[in-house]
Amino acid sequence: MTKSDYWMVDEMPETYRITSTKILDWMPLGVIMQTPRPLLMESVDVAVIGSGIAGLFLAVRCAKAGLKVAVITKKEISTSSTNWAQGGIAGVLDTENKESLEMHVKDTLECGGGHCDEDIVRSVVNEAADRINDLVKHGVKFDIGSEGEYDLNREGGHSDNRILHAKDRTGAEIERALTEDANAKIDDNFKILENWMAVDLIQKEYGDIRKGVSGVWCLDPSGLVHTLPATNVVLATGGSGMLYKRTTNPVVATGDGVAMAKRTGVDVRDMEFFQFHPTAIGLDSEGTFLITEALRGHGAILMTISEYEEWKNDGKSNNPDDLSYMHNYSSLGSLGTRDVVARATDAEMKKSGDKNVFLVTEHLDAESLVTEFPTITEKLEAYGIKMGFDAIPVTPAAHYMVGGVAVNYEGRTKSKGHIINNLYAIGEVACTGLHGANRLASNSLLEAVVYSNRAAEDIINNIDLGQKNRINSTPMWRADDLDVLIEHAPLRTDLEALRVTMSSDVGIVKSYTRLQRAKRRIQHISDEVEMIWKSCKPTQDLVELRNLIDVAKLVVRGSISRDKNVGLHYNKDLEN
Ligand SMILES: Cc1cc2nc3c(=O)[nH]c(=O)nc-3n(C[C@H](O)[C@H](O)[C@H](O)COP(=O)(O)OP(=O)(O)OC[C@H]3O[C@@H](n4cnc5c(N)ncnc54)[C@H](O)[C@@H]3O)c2cc1C
Repeated sequence: MTKSDYWMVDEMPETYRITSTKILDWMPLGVIMQTPRPLLMESVDVAVIGSGIAGLFLAVRCAKAGLKVAVITKKEISTSSTNWAQGGIAGVLDTENKESLEMHVKDTLECGGGHCDEDIVRSVVNEAADRINDLVKHGVKFDIGSEGEYDLNREGGHSDNRILHAKDRTGAEIERALTEDANAKIDDNFKILENWMAVDLIQKEYGDIRKGVSGVWCLDPSGLVHTLPATNVVLATGGSGMLYKRTTNPVVATGDGVAMAKRTGVDVRDMEFFQFHPTAIGLDSEGTFLITEALRGHGAILMTISEYEEWKNDGKSNNPDDLSYMHNYSSLGSLGTRDVVARATDAEMKKSGDKNVFLVTEHLDAESLVTEFPTITEKLEAYGIKMGFDAIPVTPAAHYMVGGVAVNYEGRTKSKGHIINNLYAIGEVACTGLHGANRLASNSLLEAVVYSNRAAEDIINNIDLGQKNRINSTPMWRADDLDVLIEHAPLRTDLEALRVTMSSDVGIVKSYTRLQRAKRRIQHISDEVEMIWKSCKPTQDLVELRNLIDVAKLVVRGSISRDKNVGLHYNKDLEN
């Protein structure tokens, strides 16, 4: 953000200082179109950016405590990674069972490759039962087994069955329950602004983010930027899978929270640790969806195309596992951890030149597969692939941003290590220290709900309601003399170039030469986009591309600086 991006309120003509509840309500487009300039919204106690598990859980909690809350969300309320989560949420429900808790801690630490913050890991694992119970109170219905207990699954890296799930659509069930609760809460004190996008954070004192934030600039659906003054701002913007050509993430995952935070001087860390899911559907089209590793837990086997052909030519009489390339990479074969499987698959695809490998289920009971995995079965059918009968083409795809905005125990952000009191980051956008260098499956929904609750409590306990009328110091966006962006084609080309560069040079296996090449190419794209940014009014596409570029730079910078292969960071120049 540069100073020329905005005006102070005092510098604005009086007529543009529009305050009202009307602003929050003014969805009729005609009204917006006639309003020449911006647009100061009524102040809130909490501005929440994002409506996944992290944002909604916190928003509802704060609203129930009597705070005035606005949720800003880029698309529809349920457009989020949360809504797509399949496997489940990890947690030990019996808090008296110290051994089980310790096993969850140990699995998380092992997966994190020595980079986790052990105190944080313990605290999150110990809090899991309470937060899962909170979700149940919100109305989330996790699957129950035949004995009347929760049906607990196990995924790669977990030494015990501790994953609660709702078939293979756990995230959708969580999002449903939280959305219903949020919608029921809507009134003058609780607004959900769908199709509104946060563009940048407003600093209380320009150039010193340590003094805190005073609100958010938001782009409305008609293209106008509004100033939303807020006593507290919560980043709950999710991840950044859209950096890569193949991703399991929804289109909203453009790293906005990280980029907004970084631009104002907030600490961001560990961005080189990007998790690739080994089994996303690998058809020619770019659109992809994830095939949960629970399917491999159920017996599905990874094979290269030639291994599969060999198995087929032998009449499928052998166990396909005997032929799987995965035994060359892990003693666990197809059940190896995500990073090992993703790297092995990447290596095999590079060797053969094939566009995918196969996930084979023909040796398994088709009926039980269909019952256990209804969503995947349905999705596969849309591609003409029959679960239990056809080989499923899969490739690795960008899945989870392990790094992010550095936060403390309560989810408060930091700048050069100093805590920023009223800016929080929760969920995937945050880097708490739980995951270290690699995320254990199903620990992210848990982290999101634990930190969402902590941040909500911190806000509720510390809010100084006297602060909320200090809107005179909130600067207004200055875009009146900028052009309307007419041509979107250059943005598309730049986005494509960025995603190709990230996929080929900053992917699963990196090297210094490739990283330097990526750095140069991204800088070039950045220069082009910055020119458009400076001369045009913002659009959602433009803001997202600018954010992705900022995030890409952070991933490259982190990758160049990391001098040891650990967890998800793998640089072949650092091989022994
Ligand atoms: C396919 C898939 C399967 C997964 N399976 C599991 C699983 O089984 N278990 C598990 O623990 N984790 C899983 N994960 C990861 C987990 O779902 C996410 O880490 C978690 O849901 C993130 O929640 P969140 O609230 O932080 O972000 P999200 O749920 O991604 O929500 C982010 C929100 O922010 C909004 N937003 C972003 N930028 C802006 C902006 N500038 N202005 C306004 N709004 C904005 C988005 O529109 C969205 O509403 C999976 C992820 C994917 C993609």
